[in-house]
This record gives sequence, structure tokens and C-alpha cells, in this order.
Amino acid sequence: MSASPTPKPWIEGIHAYVPGKARSADGRELVKLSANENPLGTSPATLAALTQAAPPARYPDPDASALRQGIGALHGINPARIVCGTGSDELLNLATQGYAGPGDEVLFTRYSFAVYDIAARRCGAVPVEAPDADYGADVDALLAAVTERTRVVFLANPNNPTGSFLPAGEVARLHARLPRDVLFVLDQAYAEYLAPEDDDCGLALAGRHDNVLVTRTFSKIYGLAGERIGWATGAPGIVDTLNRIRGPFNVTNHGQAAALAALGDQEFVRRSREHNTAELVRFSDAIGALGNHGLRALPSKGNFVLVLFEGALGAAAALDGLAEAGFAVRHLPGQGLPQALRITIGTREQMDAVAQRLRALAEAAR
Ligand code: PMP
Repeated sequence: MSASPTPKPWIEGIHAYVPGKARSADGRELVKLSANENPLGTSPATLAALTQAAPPARYPDPDASALRQGIGALHGINPARIVCGTGSDELLNLATQGYAGPGDEVLFTRYSFAVYDIAARRCGAVPVEAPDADYGADVDALLAAVTERTRVVFLANPNNPTGSFLPAGEVARLHARLPRDVLFVLDQAYAEYLAPEDDDCGLALAGRHDNVLVTRTFSKIYGLAGERIGWATGAPGIVDTLNRIRGPFNVTNHGQAAALAALGDQEFVRRSREHNTAELVRFSDAIGALGNHGLRALPSKGNFVLVLFEGALGAAAALDGLAEAGFAVRHLPGQGLPQALRITIGTREQMDAVAQRLRALAEAAR
């Protein structure tokens, strides 16, 4: 008779996160437009800083002090109100673990970031999805879904995978009507892609209120996805909670050095944003021209576009057709989007090739 360890029942309910792929089903290497990475790569100044990082034989600074100071200086935040993490994923998980447990509810909008569901389930909490409004967050629907068991509310702004964006007034309205003892996590992984006039005022909210946590990442516009660095800011009590439960050395020597250097190269950030804005418009227009074939690009404020397939060409066939042409994009049937593909904005040439291929596939499917 052999007994074996049994995972907690709530762990068995988790579907493991499926990351964006770079290979076709038959093992070919593809151009990866499936993980919202920066097509311009990493800034040269940041790459140079990697060689200056503390030696790998030494543990990193457990408090990421220099990095927190750099973040604080750029954004006008007291570094004591900042905590760094192994990607913002870790911080989203820690925030949930810190404030929700078995029987509690964690609320977010349908079609938002897949990690929220996992973060809730892994602490035994119940994930609750509020209905969307045309693929974006609906403040009234979120508020209507709040119960006395709600402990954490997530809002990704801009949202992945739909690209939707909630303006500052709506974010403030949502926050103002949430019970004060609910943690409001505003996930701003794509904030750096926004035009200045689109600021959702999340950092100001986090600076003023005791129940707001804003999370950010170096994985997207800063081109450091592989180094796994995120940060969060909120009231001292929330930051203290996260500091108590995070791993003591959760950001590596390389990660700390690279992120600090990346903050210093805002010219690279500006170029990345300009490239993204221009190609997002061009690609969305190219998809718009395929409307008669049932293709539709949702308006996006991120570095990706969700394309809906509402005609003869289905998303699964388009996924295969793009893979044959050498491109990996993201199909999200597990997130209730079987007829959609999320396509990361790549280089101009890549986006032209993807749009051309989609046109050819749509025409052939008629
Ligand atoms: N939030 C959102 C909305 C995201 O899309 C992502 C990346 N897919 C993350 C958080 C996590 O990014 P990272 O852990 O690399 O910081």
C-alpha cells in the first residue's frame, strides 16, 4: 500500500498558465508574436549594465534598494512605498495571498489576465468573473458582483488580452464605490504604452488610499521579460504585507542592475512607444480592411491586438495558417475566446507579413 501526498483540492482546480509559444506544433522556430514582448529588444545601455551586475556568487540586495530609489525618482514615489518582485506575476500572487484565503472571493472582469484566476485559486479563494462590456471592464458590473466575501478586486489597465482601457474617471469611480476593506489591485503592465493624456491616475490613487496597489513590470516596454522584474506601490501597510511574504532575494543581481539601467534609458522607452503606436494603428487598419471577411481588431491601448474571427475563417485555422507563414500568435480558447487571436505588435515588416497572410487566408476561406 503506498500513500502519496495529496495536493489541496483548490490546487487541483487550477489550469496551469499556458505561456506564449515560439514553436509550431511540428517544432519549427517561429517569429514570436505571442507573449507581448518588445520587438525592439532591450536597450544597448541596459545590456551593457548586465556586465556590471554584482557577481553571481553573491546574493542580491534583498531590498533592491537602488532599483526602488530609481523607480521612486522617475515616478515621484517614496521608495519605502515600493516593493520589487520576480516579475509582476509574483506581486499579483503575493497580493492575493496576503489578503484572500479559503472561502474569500477575488473579483475581476471576464477576459482579463489569466494569472488572476490562478492567484485566487492557489490560496483557496474563489475567483469571480464579472461580465465585460464589449470586451472591456464594466464598472457597474464589477460593483454589482462585490459581496461581503470579496477581498481583492483586480483591474488590468490596459487589459490583456483585449487591449481595452478604462479612463481615470471610471477607475476612480470603481475605487470610490468599493468597500474600504477590499484590496484594489490595478495592474498596469502596459501603462508605459499609453499616451500621457491616457494616464488612469492609478499611481495617484495608490499614493492617497490605504486599499490600492498598483503593479508594473520591466517585461514589456523595458524589454526585460527574461530577467523577471516587476514592482508595486501602495500604502505602507500593503507594501509591508508583501515584504513579509515575498522571497528574501526575489530579484536577481542581473535583474536589479538591468532594471536600473533600463529606467535611465527613457529614450529607448520613447522609441518603443512610438513604434508601437504607429504599428498598432497600421495593423488595426489592415485588419479593419478585412471586415467584409468577418475579421475585427478590437481597439487596443497595449502592445498587442485582439483579432476576432466572425466569418468563414476561424481563429484555429488562422493560427495554423500564420504558423505556416512562420508566426506564433496567441490563441486563447481556455479563456473563453475560441474565435480570437491575440497578436503582439512586432516590427513593421512582421506586421505587414501577418496582415497579408490573414488576408490570403480570409480570401481562401470564403
Ligand atoms: N499583468 C498583465 C496584464 C500581463 O499581461 C502580464 C504579462 N503577460 C503580467 C501582468 C505579468 O508580467 P510579468 O510577470 O512579466 O511582469
